[in-house]
Amino acid sequence: MSYWTHFRRSKFKFIFLGSLIMTCGLIVSAFLTLRFPDASMRYAVLGLIGLLIALNVFFFIYILIQLYRPIQTLIKETEETLQGLRQGEISLVRDDELGLLANSFNQIILDAQMKRMELETSNIELASHAEIIEKTYRELDKKVYDLFTLFNIGKELNSTLSMESILKIACFTSMGQLGITIMTIMLLETRAGNTMGIVYEKGIRGKQERMQSVVCSEEFINLLRMAEQPVLFSELENKPEFEKEAAFFIEHKSAMIIPLTVKKNVVGMLLMGKKLSGEDFNQGEKDFVNTLGSLAAIALENARLYELAITDAMTKLYLKRYFQLRLDDEFKRAERYRGKVSMAMIDIDHFKRINDTFGHTKGDEILISVATSIKENFRDVDIAARYGGEEFSVIMPEVTKEEALIAVERLRKTVENVPHEINGKNVVITISIGVAEAPRDINTPLGLIEAADAALYRSKENGRNRSTLA
Ligand code: GH3
Ligand code: MG
Ligand code: MG
Repeated sequence: MSYWTHFRRSKFKFIFLGSLIMTCGLIVSAFLTLRFPDASMRYAVLGLIGLLIALNVFFFIYILIQLYRPIQTLIKETEETLQGLRQGEISLVRDDELGLLANSFNQIILDAQMKRMELETSNIELASHAEIIEKTYRELDKKVYDLFTLFNIGKELNSTLSMESILKIACFTSMGQLGITIMTIMLLETRAGNTMGIVYEKGIRGKQERMQSVVCSEEFINLLRMAEQPVLFSELENKPEFEKEAAFFIEHKSAMIIPLTVKKNVVGMLLMGKKLSGEDFNQGEKDFVNTLGSLAAIALENARLYELAITDAMTKLYLKRYFQLRLDDEFKRAERYRGKVSMAMIDIDHFKRINDTFGHTKGDEILISVATSIKENFRDVDIAARYGGEEFSVIMPEVTKEEALIAVERLRKTVENVPHEINGKNVVITISIGVAEAPRDINTPLGLIEAADAALYRSKENGRNRSTLA
């Protein structure tokens, strides 16, 4: 600010300047009065001028002390307060107009300070709200990610009807999502009135995939049925009624149990090991595995129903319809890769006689026994089915009929050597077999069945208990 502007803005400076000019004028007037001829007149005027100068000086000092200084203080302290350099009230205490002004300023300052405090409180609240929003956002983000993961897992689980694939998906997803290294899946089934568990175990350290049976008490199954949240091992370990189950969970290093429930039926459980970080499972993780459990339970149930739909209840071999579908598939595969497929038709010899002599129940037992021998004598990739009453068929992909003959001969000898003691008598069961190969013998699925059947007929004609190639 220029000196002139400063001077122009300060009304006091005008007053002080005016007072100075007036004093100077009065002093000049006093000197001029000295020239007055009349002495008494001169002293009278000089006295008056002296009085006026004194008055002028008095007002000058009065304005300086009583107005100028306090106003300067007021301005300085107000500015400092506004700039936040000063706290508390303005120090000016007076009972005149300036005092009133100072009071009004103090009131305004007090209001402003209150408002500032309110603002600071609001800011703190706002900051804490922002923190909550940020936390909620992060949680929401995690939930969206979890949901997306679950959606993809759901899709994957729905795309397969293989029990093995479902168990693998459930295992690897849980282990990855929760950061655990050991996980066990127990599938429950009722055998001789007891609920048993078939165990599927996965761990990062070593291949731990095995079948194991464990008895689960009805009380424990009820606990799982009612549980809406995963059950923590710590909730069970000191309960004597669950001693047997707890021992099983200790053996499998399980920290959390997630029931696999379908329509209120407990079909199994996911057993989670401890987290690698050593932390407890949080609610988000519990919710995740709970939902995963529900998805896996439905997928396992679907796989079980599908298995039931394609499997013969008595022999546990595939049904004829499924066999035909798989034969069509194998033909397509063989055509695409210029490969081959062999098949065998198997028929029990004189089975009518066995039924007639020993009854249908014994006949059924023998059927189951032959089916078991078939399962044991072929590879996992081979597809064995119950084709009709006591007729069986086996598809052997990528195998010539000569190679297939080795397998069916092994089966034939096995069946012949299985001891059957009926009514104290040792009964020998034999089978006749026919083998054909596609596309070497014929290049349609139906043709292959007929060719194998024709070869089987020749085995029967030539005295039974033998294998014949088409
Ligand atoms: P072959 O040596 O010529 O085969 O004589 P076979 O008596 O075995 O004759 P065939 O194969 O025609 O016999 C079929 C018999 O199998 C008829 C039926 O009594 C019996 N059978 C079919 N399905 C079942 C079943 O589920 N259980 C029992 N017990 N018998 C069955
Ligand atoms: Mg027969
Ligand atoms: Mg028959």
